[in-house]
Amino acid sequence: MCDEGLQALWTRVDVRQPLLTGDDIAEWPDGYLDRLMAAGLLRETENARSVVCDACAEGHVEEVQLIESPPGSGFRAYIVCPENGRVRVPLARLRQWAVDLSGLARALAAGLSAAAGVEELAPGRVWFLGRTALDGQSREAFFVRGTAWPDFRTVLAGARRFQEATRPVVLVAEIMPPEDVWGGDLPAVFVLRALARLEGDSLVVDRSEMDRVLGRDRRPSAAPRGKDLALRIDPGGSLCYFRNVLVNLSKMPFDVLVLLAEEAKAGPRWVSRDRISEACWPEEWARGNPATEDQINNVASELRKALRKDGGVSAREALILVQSKSKNGYRLNLPAHEIEIAAA
Ligand SMILES: [Zn+2]
Repeated sequence: MCDEGLQALWTRVDVRQPLLTGDDIAEWPDGYLDRLMAAGLLRETENARSVVCDACAEGHVEEVQLIESPPGSGFRAYIVCPENGRVRVPLARLRQWAVDLSGLARALAAGLSAAAGVEELAPGRVWFLGRTALDGQSREAFFVRGTAWPDFRTVLAGARRFQEATRPVVLVAEIMPPEDVWGGDLPAVFVLRALARLEGDSLVVDRSEMDRVLGRDRRPSAAPRGKDLALRIDPGGSLCYFRNVLVNLSKMPFDVLVLLAEEAKAGPRWVSRDRISEACWPEEWARGNPATEDQINNVASELRKALRKDGGVSAREALILVQSKSKNGYRLNLPAHEIEIAAA
C-alpha cells in the first residue's frame, strides 16, 4: 500500500494542469502507477519538454534537447546546465501522466455506488456523480474542482443540477473550501484526501465515515435524555437554553428564534421573511416598509453566531439548525419534541 501516490494525485486535482511527472512517481512501489491507471485516475500524456536540472543545486528548469547520434542509435535527452554543461536526462524523467478527471468522476461514482450515471455539469469543474444512499437518505453526489479559483461561484451557479439538488453531498480533492464559496445553502462537503483509498485497482470511498458525519449533522442534538431538551425558551424572561446551556441573545435574534421555534413545534415549517420583518421591525412594517433581505440575514447570522459561541455547535450545524432558503425564508431544524417554549 502506498497512499502517497494517491495523495500526490489529490494535490494535483486542483491545479490547472493536473500532471504527474516521472520525478513524482520515481519513488512509487512497482505496479502502483499501473493500478492508478487501471483505476482510471491517470493516463499517460505527452512527454515533458523541460525538466528541472538535477545535476546542480540550483533547481533551474531547462528545455530538453533530443539528440540521436550516431543516427539510428535512438534518441537521448539532454539539458544544458550553467555549472555542468550538457547533462543527460533519463527518458523516464520526461514521461508525464495527466489526472483523468472524467475517469476520476466515474471512479468516485462507482465508489459511492451511485445510480444514474455521471454527468459533467461544467467542463472540467463540476460533475454530478449520481444518487446514492447515505445515512439512510437518498443524496445527490457531486465532485467539484477548483473551488479556490476566482470563477468558482460563477461556474457553480451555472450548474443547474447542483443548484436544484436536494441534500447535495460534494466531494473535493484536497482542501476543505471556505463556506462562502457555495453561495447559498451549505452542502455537506467531504475531502477525498481523508476519505478515499486505493484497493487493488479500485478507488474505495469510505461511506461509513460519510454516514457518520451526515448523521451527526442531521441530528444536531443527541436524543433527549429524560427531560433534557435541545431547546428551551422562556419568552417571559427572554431566556434561551440550548442543550441546557444559556445562550445569550439580543432582542431581535431572540424574537426570531421564538418565531422559528413555534413553527418547528408545529412540524418542520418555514417562517417567511415577511413574518420576521413584522416581528423585528413592527413600526416600519406597519408603515409598509418591510426589512431588506440583508437586515433579516444579519439577524439570522447573529442567532447562529450565538448558538456557536454559547451553544457549542459547529458552523455547519448552526447553518443546518437555522436553515435559510431564498424562496421559503427560515426554518429551525429540530424535532418538535426537543423544543419547549414556556408559557408566557
Ligand atoms: Zn544545473
